[in-house]
Amino acid sequence: MVVTPMTAVAPWAMVDLLSTLQQCFGHTSFRAGQEDLVRSVLDGHDVLAVMPTGSGKSLGFQLPALVLPGTTLVVSPLISLMKDQVDELNGRGIRAAALHSMLPSDAKHEALTAARQGDLRLLYVAPERFASDYFARLLRDLPIARFVVDEAHCVSDWGHDFRPDYRRLRTAAAECRRSDGQTGRPPLAAFTATATPEVRDDIVDLLGLVNPRVLVSGFDRPNIHLQIRPVSGDLEKLRLLPQLVAGRRSLVYAATRRSAEEAAETLRETGLQAGAYHAGLRDAERSRVQDAFASGALRVVCATNAFGMGIDRPDVEAVIHVAIPGSLEAYYQEIGRAGRDGRQATATLLWNYRDVKTRQYLIDHGREELPGRAVAPLDPAEVARRKELDHKKLRRMAAYANAAGCLRATILRYFGDPAAREPCEACGNCDRRAPLDAAARLRVRKILSGIARAGERYGRRKVAAMLVGHVEDLPEPLTRLSTTGLLREEDPQSVEQWIDATCAAGLVRTSADKYQTLSLTPLGREVMAGRVEDVAMAVPVARRRRVRRRTSPFRGAFYAFARRRG
Ligand code: ADP
Repeated sequence: MVVTPMTAVAPWAMVDLLSTLQQCFGHTSFRAGQEDLVRSVLDGHDVLAVMPTGSGKSLGFQLPALVLPGTTLVVSPLISLMKDQVDELNGRGIRAAALHSMLPSDAKHEALTAARQGDLRLLYVAPERFASDYFARLLRDLPIARFVVDEAHCVSDWGHDFRPDYRRLRTAAAECRRSDGQTGRPPLAAFTATATPEVRDDIVDLLGLVNPRVLVSGFDRPNIHLQIRPVSGDLEKLRLLPQLVAGRRSLVYAATRRSAEEAAETLRETGLQAGAYHAGLRDAERSRVQDAFASGALRVVCATNAFGMGIDRPDVEAVIHVAIPGSLEAYYQEIGRAGRDGRQATATLLWNYRDVKTRQYLIDHGREELPGRAVAPLDPAEVARRKELDHKKLRRMAAYANAAGCLRATILRYFGDPAAREPCEACGNCDRRAPLDAAARLRVRKILSGIARAGERYGRRKVAAMLVGHVEDLPEPLTRLSTTGLLREEDPQSVEQWIDATCAAGLVRTSADKYQTLSLTPLGREVMAGRVEDVAMAVPVARRRRVRRRTSPFRGAFYAFARRRG
């Protein structure tokens, strides 16, 4: 392990970071999380920084590079990204260069000489450079301040941008010489916008980060109001769609090509300009829709997940998912296309458990592919591993759709962002938080009694089944409690939702193990005993009965809707 001596005060500990930010980068203040990041990199820790695209991650290595002795080496996967950063830095008077296949050899030579003399603050390199022994030898001569890996998720094959060359970086870093004269490799700092726990773990393992500081920030999008709308089926989705769009510039995401088409048609028939976009359309049609949306001529696009890359309209006001997406990461990325201009925007998920089944089918039998992406043949074990991961991601997404607590906090906690404050006061669940009336309080007390009587040894499914009196498959002790059948007029799913609501309200907690057994909190005991009556929670939305579908769900629904409205 590399240890920075604590006795000597490093010269950069005295640097006024804010003045450096202002003078060298022209920004007035740090953004949330940036200063912490800069300090962690300066302090010589290995760092993993997870921040969304556009949040200002680069400053996390660019500012330290100005202050530290030696050159900061930055591995970056795209020549265009390198060029942009190098041009911007040079424009600010900061000496930086990039080594990649397009660079003429005299420019390469000049960059390396400057680096050897310690004159170059940042040297960007493409990952494939490390395949060359010649380059590895050159590298050993350079005094390196920090070894930075940008777009670090490329090291993980869980991510969508796996780059085999990234697997060499651990060894490459180990061969670098530190600019501060200490032994061992230079501190390593990895940067990514991908926050999935699997990818994060891979980055730490495969790049060999030692006791890394993991910094996650910037995922909160407070101007996007989050909403889950339970629906009984496709008919209700279509009835709601025009109201949810409400004439706003919107993206509507669907799980299948057919439902994207039908959603667009439904909106067009209500007089809205709406286009469909999916991988099944001809290139020319896809470009037409994309361009029309980008220019503002088309206000609504109904799409599968094939749409979104390169969509950069800042004024999208609403994102509506007519079916649950495959993962919370995909969902957050898709709704993140709303409100980029900072104005109020909404993200609504129409939620019906049957859509999870559709997604499960897509996972098991192929998926909506991205246009132009080659699908490499995979060995069967790999296919099975990926399917299992996709099912896991889908379960997490479904858990979000069912969440009883603050939706924003649920997402931010999942990404590990410490900004998660509950309640956020800007999501459907927080909006619904209200003091309980006498009937609801009685129901909650019955549930709390059931959990207490069950000996705090069972999870929500068994407790709910016990309370509604569905005793057939229950362990014998649960079949003869004083609370067995206490809520026999209710259905088990609704009781489970109420249990979730009591958890979110802090009356009940679940164990951290895989059994997730329920137990009462001290507040829960007070409420059960009737000593505390002042309880606020998001009351679950009553489930609606399923409406029978016509043969073509969306068109049928539209005509039914149109007829009702006359
Ligand atoms: P990322 O690498 O996270 O995608 P960048 O580092 O490229 O993002 O930064 C995105 C934009 O934000 C850049 O134009 C950058 O100049 C700007 N930026 C970064 N930090 C600040 C700051 N503290 N104040 C204002 N603008 C900033």
